Amino acid sequence: MKKICFPDNKKFVFTIVDDTDDSFLENTKPIYDFLFEHGILITKTIWVYPPRDRESKGHSLQHQGYRSFILDIKNKGYEIALHNVGSGSYFRKEILKGLEEYKNLLGEYPNIHINHSYNADSIYGGFKRFSFPFSFLIKLLHPVYAQKYEGEIPGSPHFWGDIHKKLIKYSRNYETDQLNTIKFNPYMPYIDKSKEQYSNYWFSATFAPNQWMFNKIVTPRAVDNLEQEGGVCILYTHLGYYMKNGKIDQGFIEKIKYISQKNNGWFVPVSTVLDFLMENNAGNIVIPRIVKLKLELLYLFVRFKYRRILKIDDYTFKKSNEYSS
Ligand SMILES: [Zn+2]
Repeated sequence: MKKICFPDNKKFVFTIVDDTDDSFLENTKPIYDFLFEHGILITKTIWVYPPRDRESKGHSLQHQGYRSFILDIKNKGYEIALHNVGSGSYFRKEILKGLEEYKNLLGEYPNIHINHSYNADSIYGGFKRFSFPFSFLIKLLHPVYAQKYEGEIPGSPHFWGDIHKKLIKYSRNYETDQLNTIKFNPYMPYIDKSKEQYSNYWFSATFAPNQWMFNKIVTPRAVDNLEQEGGVCILYTHLGYYMKNGKIDQGFIEKIKYISQKNNGWFVPVSTVLDFLMENNAGNIVIPRIVKLKLELLYLFVRFKYRRILKIDDYTFKKSNEYSS
């Protein structure tokens, strides 16, 4: 792979998509203070409304202190993105209202939307992330992936695909356990013809949903390789899990310090990275079907490996003491 010349003579990229699950003012602000101190700007997803299902928890824009915190990090250069307007089942009218509220409070619409796991208003969510026959396999592996996902189905009460197409520039799909995300998917940001009607550009991420996986994947050696390869890491995680008993995960602290002392790293939010990559590769890259199938197979294997073999994905993590206490 040809090395990319990043702005300001930077040699590699490290950034994060922070999924807002379990994020409260108290357990999130210290993490962002720490990241800011180390010059690492990332993308934080948010909910406009509080969770209405029993499975999820976290603050939303309705919480005054949390809202001020979100505005504060936005002013500092962090990107704010959408994680559906809330957790649970949302209907078109509520979603449109939520997006307007988002704009009124933050001054602009989101550029990135990430589906929250089981929302019926997800766009090309669940098993639809895969093509046949993998879509079939994923239904077996993750039964919740087989339920209804209708954000892009006209006529469904959860439909908002038309607005998604209009407002949202980037969506996330296939994930890898390599730190260097772009080595896994050199096409990003790309167009997926099968999802073109209600989406624009797609990107991949490094699958590290919790601190167990973060600490396994983000090793000094992997970071050195990322630097040497001139790579791009877009890591996907839930920073809302990383504080326990008032302390940020020690592994996370050490790794972020290790990354941040590399002066040649470009630590900017996801949209900044993707906009740059798009300019660099002239944009409008349609991902070939054969490449898609390869990425799907690899992604499926990663999901299987961390759920069934290593058992450190969220399925196991969320049943552990580290999560519940
Ligand atoms: Zn989520």
